[in-house]
Amino acid sequence: MCAIEAGKRGRKVVVLDHARKAGKKILISGGGRCNFTNYNISAENYVSHNPHFCKSALSRFTQWDFIAIINNYQIPFHEREHGQLFCDHSAKDIMAMLLAEAKKVKIKIQLNTEIKQVQQQENDNFTIETSQGYFQSRSLIIASGGLSIPRMGATPLGYKIAEQFDHHIWPTTAGLVPFTLQPEDKNKFSELSGIAINSVVSNERIQFRENILFTHRGLSGPAILQISSYWQAGEAIEINLLPDLDLTEYLIREKNTRSKAHLKTILVDSLPKRLLLTFLGEELLDRPMQAISLSQIDDITRKLQHWKIKPNGTEGYRTAEVTLGGIDCNELSSKTMESAKASGLYFIGEVMDVSGWLGGYNFQWAWSSGWCAGQVV
Ligand SMILES: Cc1cc2nc3c(=O)[nH]c(=O)nc-3n(C[C@H](O)[C@H](O)[C@H](O)COP(=O)(O)OP(=O)(O)OC[C@H]3O[C@@H](n4cnc5c(N)ncnc54)[C@H](O)[C@@H]3O)c2cc1C
Repeated sequence: MCAIEAGKRGRKVVVLDHARKAGKKILISGGGRCNFTNYNISAENYVSHNPHFCKSALSRFTQWDFIAIINNYQIPFHEREHGQLFCDHSAKDIMAMLLAEAKKVKIKIQLNTEIKQVQQQENDNFTIETSQGYFQSRSLIIASGGLSIPRMGATPLGYKIAEQFDHHIWPTTAGLVPFTLQPEDKNKFSELSGIAINSVVSNERIQFRENILFTHRGLSGPAILQISSYWQAGEAIEINLLPDLDLTEYLIREKNTRSKAHLKTILVDSLPKRLLLTFLGEELLDRPMQAISLSQIDDITRKLQHWKIKPNGTEGYRTAEVTLGGIDCNELSSKTMESAKASGLYFIGEVMDVSGWLGGYNFQWAWSSGWCAGQVV
């Protein structure tokens, strides 16, 4: 996006990437359909130590601007829950569009090129030493992404270059990532692997309502990925597995009106039987409602609507969709993304300390920040 915009202004641009293919993350994103943006974008959908930083770029190049390009290329897309926009056919449509735009303005994309080191000379120009020789430039834009999914070519290059220029870097961790569980919980819940439940997942700072998914390693699903970006090691999260029901009131009513019905019969329409067995046990589920006390009803509500669980950790960068932390935004211009430490040096996209929610927010940040830098480099 940055290269295209700079190219439109007549700048001579080369994109250097060690990958064999351009835009690999775009191609695998959104299950191959690329969740390229979201109808509802605001600063609240981003995690950063400077929550205001992203506002300027997101308002200068918006989701509507990106959608306009998509429409121009007649790429069919659809909306899913929470305003998320996906390609109807394939993420390849987005890549083809970007490559076509790049070609129009004669951008050179040089793949298989490892960056060895960069230096700024006294005249402020940059020298970039690569596996394919040396390059000289007046501006240097770092769009090297985060650390997520190393097997797809993620490296700490951007952080290293930032450090070289004396930038402060917030510690990085995996975000939008499944949780692993303590051994005892893992044993208990792994038998529920494959079950997805629409839930509210919360901690003291935020809550998300989406599916959670039990896996053989722990907990995943959109609600879990979202809260993982707000989770601190050692902290418990709370899960409400029946967010649309006043469970205590419902069970008391059923106890009074269907006293002979078994608890299992009362709950089985709301939650899968396998899950009920794990959470409440066979003995309780087989009891008629008349044999269930009010304090047991409270206990059932606590277990199903206030399920507190302390994850053991996350699956880490191996499966994370995003990297939290990164280059401190306070040392970058929110209008141009230029470094306050070195003129002509820019950082865009995920390498910065701006991480979006699940739902197209990370690509929109990449488009918006790239577009802004492209206006000035
Ligand atoms: C599995 C998965 C699915 C995702 N799905 C979505 C989605 O549907 N919607 C969404 O909004 N976000 C999604 N994301 C997040 C999104 O892909 C990233 O936030 C976005 O790609 C960041 O763009 P970027 O340009 O900053 O970095 P990247 O897209 O990561 O690009 C960085 C580039 O730098 C290159 N590079 C890295 N190190 C070096 C080096 N040392 N030398 C040379 N080149 C180097 C890499 O090869 C890569 O091409 C997903 C992420 C993952 C992992």
